[in-house]
Amino acid sequence: MAETERGLSRSKTKRLKHRLRVVEKRDRFLRRDRTLNAAVLEEVFDRPTLMTIYDLMNQGALQRLEGTVSAGKESRVYSGVDEHGNYVAVKIYLTTSAEFRRGMLPYIEGDPRFEHVKHNTRSLIQSWAQKEFRNLQRAHEAGVRVPKPIFVKNNVLIMEFIGREGLPAPLLKDTPIKDPTKLYRLLFQTVRKLYARARLVHADLSEYNIMIWKGRSVIFDVSQSVPLEHPMAETFLKRDLENLNRYFKLLGVNVIPVDQFYQKVVKSGRGNGSRQDPAGQGRSPHRPRREG
Ligand code: ADP
Ligand code: MN
Repeated sequence: MAETERGLSRSKTKRLKHRLRVVEKRDRFLRRDRTLNAAVLEEVFDRPTLMTIYDLMNQGALQRLEGTVSAGKESRVYSGVDEHGNYVAVKIYLTTSAEFRRGMLPYIEGDPRFEHVKHNTRSLIQSWAQKEFRNLQRAHEAGVRVPKPIFVKNNVLIMEFIGREGLPAPLLKDTPIKDPTKLYRLLFQTVRKLYARARLVHADLSEYNIMIWKGRSVIFDVSQSVPLEHPMAETFLKRDLENLNRYFKLLGVNVIPVDQFYQKVVKSGRGNGSRQDPAGQGRSPHRPRREG
């Protein structure tokens, strides 16, 4: 009897100790945090997401979260600081949106990289975060200006912060452009590079997903981007080009007709289409972490 009690109390103690560690971890996180309080985080995120954030903090990928940059329907973006004091952007996908699940299926289905993903909401959202991470990696390695991907775990993605000290760079749609024709040409090259070297189509390119920072454009929000072998790649590319043309026409640019624009991009993809990727992957110090 006594032994059983001791046995029980031993496992109970173990459980309690574990619990205490979790709470202490959380308190440390809360104390450090000035602008974001726990109540806010807990309202928005479920327990697994909170644990993922704490894990990233324990691993040093994140020292603290600072403020909300954007609160979308499907994800939140926070500014944060890593262990070296550098600003990072933390994009957290909401695991509760059923609408989101429906919306992302067409982009996941048809992408050979995600052939074996289960179709329940949590797995889908996690692969969505992985997909954004890998697309950023591919684009970055191809020399396309995107936020440099740093870490991904479950539904939380950490990347380079574009902007200054937690203040995000302005979006194209909110920025007066001095030389729109020049920027249009640069974006044309960007789309081409993304296609020919990263072998990707952005699939949601518009003035909302382009930032202007230090006089240059940075494209981002690539979770829905698809590889060229995706059956809808062509349709998505045309839509991207139509969006660019629509916006730059408003700015008075004499745009290239979409068909011509499209042909030029596709032609560049047929040429030296080798993407300089696989070798680079092993070199990256920040590999995505995946859980079963
Ligand atoms: P959504 O799916 O909500 O459109 P986005 O990836 O477009 O998500 O991010 C939403 C907003 O967060 C952007 O409009 C931008 O202002 C900000 N943001 C996203 N990524 C970064 C980043 N790496 N650095 C700075 N701000 C960012
Ligand atoms: Mn966006």
